Amino acid sequence: MIRTGTQYRDSIRDGRRVWMNGERVKDVTVHPMFKPLVDIRARMYDMQHESALRDTLTYDEGDGERHCIAHKLPLTRQDWWDKRRATDLLLEDIGGVVTRVGDETVGEMWSLFDGQDVLNELDPRFSSNIRAHINQVVHGDLFHVSANTDPRGNRSKPPQAQDPDVLLHVVKETDAGVIVRGAKYETAAAYANQAFTKPALAQWGNDEHSEYAIGFICDMGAPNLRFICRTGFATRAPAEDYPLSNRFDEVDSIVVFDDVLIPWENVLFYRHTKAARFLQNTLHRYSAFAFVQRNLKLADMLIGTALHNTRQTGVDKLQAVQDKLSKLACYREGINAHLTAAIALAERSPAGLMMPNQSLLFTGRSFATSQLHEMMNTVRDLCGGQICLTPDYASFRNEETGPWLDKFYTLSPQWKSEDRRKLLAYARDLLNSDYASHRLTFQLFAQSPPHAQTAAVHQHFNWDEPLDFVARSAGLSEDVKGIDAPADGDGAVSQWFRDQMDGE
Ligand SMILES: Cc1cc2nc3c(=O)[nH]c(=O)nc-3n(C[C@H](O)[C@H](O)[C@H](O)COP(=O)(O)OP(=O)(O)OC[C@H]3O[C@@H](n4cnc5c(N)ncnc54)[C@H](O)[C@@H]3O)c2cc1C
Repeated sequence: MIRTGTQYRDSIRDGRRVWMNGERVKDVTVHPMFKPLVDIRARMYDMQHESALRDTLTYDEGDGERHCIAHKLPLTRQDWWDKRRATDLLLEDIGGVVTRVGDETVGEMWSLFDGQDVLNELDPRFSSNIRAHINQVVHGDLFHVSANTDPRGNRSKPPQAQDPDVLLHVVKETDAGVIVRGAKYETAAAYANQAFTKPALAQWGNDEHSEYAIGFICDMGAPNLRFICRTGFATRAPAEDYPLSNRFDEVDSIVVFDDVLIPWENVLFYRHTKAARFLQNTLHRYSAFAFVQRNLKLADMLIGTALHNTRQTGVDKLQAVQDKLSKLACYREGINAHLTAAIALAERSPAGLMMPNQSLLFTGRSFATSQLHEMMNTVRDLCGGQICLTPDYASFRNEETGPWLDKFYTLSPQWKSEDRRKLLAYARDLLNSDYASHRLTFQLFAQSPPHAQTAAVHQHFNWDEPLDFVARSAGLSEDVKGIDAPADGDGAVSQWFRDQMDGE
């Protein structure tokens, strides 16, 4: 079943307790700082019903119903091409980048699907729950978000040695389920349906069991949840001056779990630190794809802004300017190449799903996020100082100041002052505003911090091939090679590479 925008809006009018700027928000669907993003999410639901878009955004599972393509369990390479195409279509239609709209986080559940053996070995009660929830997202067309990060406290001490309720944990078991207490940071939670909630703790010590090792699906309408949101960017300043802030702000919350009952059927693992470790090591094996794809669209926005600006001012023919544009193109195509190759060389997961090639996906993610700030600065450089010097829209409309600004901002018969003003306002919001810095920080952190992203690269890159090559090329002895040379003299990675090329 695919939902409509109206059904989505109705589903989040459930009496949830949301605060922003020190005030209770009665209805997130109409509050001015939430409404623009809720409207975009609703538009995405409605798009699934449009006959021209239906086949790209939805699929038939053989049950005669249409389902959202983003929620489909990935079994083939084609599934990844379809997901990529659907995300592109959505971002094209809304004219910008939204990240936490579901497809980017639902893959975290597929990682746990891969861990069913681990779950069965530890506690067989829970492996059927993960399958049921994957099914439920497909059939309920739910807006699903991610909850990993607790307020943390002092990392040098175990959670029990400080206020034990800062990190989310189980305080009681009942026949109906577990009662949890603590808090999580979650983007979009205040207007989503559910969150996959799990620990971000890295150090479990030698503990096999812990009340902090709990993973579950949390219904965002559950009693005793509180959403305390950071202030929104929308409506703070006129939309004409800040077009992106006013449309694309994905409001983050600290979600407080004040003794929330999680029914047993929503519990995906509990007590076993081995399950928590497994998930932490595999969490982004699918969801990183959609995250990196957003970087590609962001790169397009940077290039388009820089190119329009250099064409307006007539500097685009200069070699030095073309060099900088080419640098942006290399960044963009670098991301594109990683995404494309990650599908072309996709790998089977332990449970038989199709994973994007892990080494290419995680190197792509690190490449995209670690260089974004530099690309933004290159676009600032190409746009010049006018993005932060230009007066606001009201001054362009003012009877007395407007004509002066028209004179100074009209560049040619084609480039009239209103288009110049619009482009500069867009560039300011993309590069210099509070919203722009927030987005940059989002890309840096929202799918784990940089050190964890490079750790994923280190974990998945196949170090054997260069090691083996240099060992053979330099004629090193067997003692120092550090790897066993394959009997036929063929590189281990070459075999690995061929396996990937051999198909599904
Ligand atoms: C805009 C935004 C949206 C977010 N949305 C979500 C969301 O929807 N769901 C969610 O669960 N989380 C979300 N997060 C939280 C995000 O996952 C965390 O910010 C991230 O995991 C880093 O954790 P932290 O902020 O506690 O930083 P810290 O863990 O305190 O790390 C800060 C810095 O300390 C250093 N450091 C810390 N530990 C180590 C280490 N072991 N080795 C080396 N260096 C280290 C690094 O320089 C690191 O960047 C969001 C964050 C942002 C900024």
